Amino acid sequence: MSAYKSAEQYRMIAGRLTLPSHAFIDGDWTAAASGEVFENVDPATGARLGTVAACDGVDVDRAVKAARRVFEAGDWSRAAPEQRKAVLLKLADLVRANAEELAVLESLDSGKTIKDCLNEISHEVPTFFQWYGELADKAFGKVAPTAEKVVAMIVKEPIGVVGLVLPWNFPLLMAAWKLAPALAVGCSAVLKPAEQTPLSALRLAELAMEAGLPPGVLNVVPGFGETAGQAIGRHNDIDAVSFTGSTEVGAYFLNYASESNLKPVGLEMGGKSPMIVLDDADIDDTLVSSAINAAFWNGGQNCSANMRQIVDRKVKDAFLDRVLEKTRALVVGDPLDPATDLGSMVSAEHKERVLSYIEIGKAEGAQTLAGGGASEGLAGAFVDPTVFDNVDPQMRIAREEIFGPVLGVIPVDGVDEALAIARDTDYGLHATIFTRDIDKAFHLAKRLPCGTVAINGFSEGNVTTPFGGYKRSGSMARDNGTEAIDQYLQTKTIWLSLK
Ligand code: NAD
Repeated sequence: MSAYKSAEQYRMIAGRLTLPSHAFIDGDWTAAASGEVFENVDPATGARLGTVAACDGVDVDRAVKAARRVFEAGDWSRAAPEQRKAVLLKLADLVRANAEELAVLESLDSGKTIKDCLNEISHEVPTFFQWYGELADKAFGKVAPTAEKVVAMIVKEPIGVVGLVLPWNFPLLMAAWKLAPALAVGCSAVLKPAEQTPLSALRLAELAMEAGLPPGVLNVVPGFGETAGQAIGRHNDIDAVSFTGSTEVGAYFLNYASESNLKPVGLEMGGKSPMIVLDDADIDDTLVSSAINAAFWNGGQNCSANMRQIVDRKVKDAFLDRVLEKTRALVVGDPLDPATDLGSMVSAEHKERVLSYIEIGKAEGAQTLAGGGASEGLAGAFVDPTVFDNVDPQMRIAREEIFGPVLGVIPVDGVDEALAIARDTDYGLHATIFTRDIDKAFHLAKRLPCGTVAINGFSEGNVTTPFGGYKRSGSMARDNGTEAIDQYLQTKTIWLSLK
């Protein structure tokens, strides 16, 4: 029996949903002070889902005041760690219990497949709340080595009110990546979902209240980047920002910080990640599925997508035969149908952006072996999974982030050429290596300037492993793992002189 319901059943769930339309500030739904709203559209059909409050600086300020009030009162920030843990574990349970509705909500909002939404929301998202909840009462401070008559304690304290600014590609998962560690250590949060996908984070705020989070600890302010996003970046009473999104906007946040209160800014940004296939690699199911997932998972709208597939000429034909066979079998269509592998792009504008890159690739001389345009017969923002061969490393499609279902094969002769091309990028988020030679694999892993290297299987790691980028893909901050809590803590020394 399938683990999934039918598309028809998911549509019935969709019909029953009440879609959030207001901001969530200080424990309550509220309209934007200006009364402004923005249209929320299902990108797979172009249908209007409803409207959502368009928050601006006034609303962000209201949210920061609520977050500050509760932070200073200590209801959460100074609560016993086991109390924070209990609330986060309850939130994990509530997400699990509501996973199906949340997944349908997110699929409608983003065009992501119901399969991916269910996987993220019933497994990954609750795991984050559970894992950081468990960490809340297991994070210890230190005692420094000092002379006999001194005790010096090094303690970690929550940094205060944090601004969390999110992208649209994994809406609820990115919220969990940031919120779970921030809440676990006692921070209050002002969270801005991307304007394309505000719904699941708003529903999460409601579940967090049900789990027992005090009002004001989590505030969700939907709105546009230049208004709500900028207001968070520039707010003088926000103590830290954690941002995930494009490199261009990440750079704005550094400016906002330097022009306001010098808040620390954690940045997780774009990528142009390589997959290296050496001549001794087994062209087996694991490799082929990895190549496909690395390029097409989430419609290629993935920061760690391995779009640049750098393949030794000796195995290129065998690689392409298998990859093309699998690409042609991918089902593009209704995101609510569990048989669908690729849903729609997040918006009609993003579809046009991806299509324009595909045209650039053709004009630059890359050879189209599969796809190469919009999906025929589908009215929404659908793009066919596209495979280019003979991509030159200097082409724009090999250098700029496309963020769509485009796999580009760059043929090479040997490991040295593969490494040189893999390294030649402004980004540094991720890389995958396929080889049977473990010495070569480790040599490459050490020489690749990026935050995550996967060997013999495409993976971003999981909740236990830090995730972030080198170069223009990130700052020193990391999401996930025990490292993530460093974004939300500050360090204090307490020096006691004994008599
Ligand atoms: P984006 O940069 O356009 O938007 C991200 C967020 O910033 C949104 O909430 C948006 O409203 C806000 N924003 C936009 N302009 C702003 C401005 N002028 N001032 C303040 N805030 C502003 O990114 P996106 O299109 O939503 O997401 C795609 C990007 O995110 C890709 O580049 C992708 O690689 C990256 N991403 C990175 C990771 C990672 O962990 N490294 C994960 C997911 C996505």
